Amino acid sequence: MAELPEIAKISGQMNQVLAGKKIQKVAIYQPKSINVKEGEFFCRTADATVVQVTNRGKWIVAHLSNGENILLSFGLGADVLYFPTEQERKSQSHIQVFMEDGSGFTVRYWWFGWFFLLSDAGLFKDPHIRDIAPDPFQKEFTYEYFRNLFWGKKIRIKTVLLDQSKVSGIGNMYIQDILFRSGLHPDQNSSTMEEEDFKILYQSIKEQLEKSREKGGCAFEMDFFGEKGGFGLDDFYIGYKEGEPCPRCGTLIQKIRLGGTASYFCPNCQKKK
Ligand SMILES: [Zn+2]
Repeated sequence: MAELPEIAKISGQMNQVLAGKKIQKVAIYQPKSINVKEGEFFCRTADATVVQVTNRGKWIVAHLSNGENILLSFGLGADVLYFPTEQERKSQSHIQVFMEDGSGFTVRYWWFGWFFLLSDAGLFKDPHIRDIAPDPFQKEFTYEYFRNLFWGKKIRIKTVLLDQSKVSGIGNMYIQDILFRSGLHPDQNSSTMEEEDFKILYQSIKEQLEKSREKGGCAFEMDFFGEKGGFGLDDFYIGYKEGEPCPRCGTLIQKIRLGGTASYFCPNCQKKK
């Protein structure tokens, strides 16, 4: 599943090739993904120019010149692919966006995902979007911001890191090694952590996501140009390595289920505090 490194990469690529282009039409083949009627989607986007494409947590946001915004979530996974010319367009897709110069992009959801149209004012109202927290690549994600999430709280660290209204962009993939780098058990509670633990955790979040970004994101995900990232299974320390030796101490890595998600950890390096 795409997380911050992959989403930030794709939104950057979209910005690079779509900004300044005019939308000719948006064709919707999976109406349950959109938040307005198909005709309305078409009318509110036709002839608008893409001003900028950014990401907001795990959502991609295309700001249009007429005060509208197209928002795309990957749901459980999606192929979002650019086509420079009509001939290279993937026909099997749920959504197709055509630009006036003949280029465009297609969206194919692996299972299900959202494709919303919101006005500038609507961005502040829609519950999916309005509450999204800063992501660790943003300058707003300071140590002070991060530390404040836990003051006076007794809460499982992993729950906070996956909560998109607290920290956006992290999913159940990169969190495995973030906790390993920090020496924290997946069930670690914030109330028994020292200041130093929070500092290491904050640093680990940034380093882990940066490491993947440098390698072009996850090797199982395609970018906007159909290229796969370079961050593969070998790049994980303990994530998805159940039964293999811990790279630090050799203890066998275990997998447990906590709060509905799988967690991989080294029972020796990641003891509960
Ligand atoms: Zn270990």
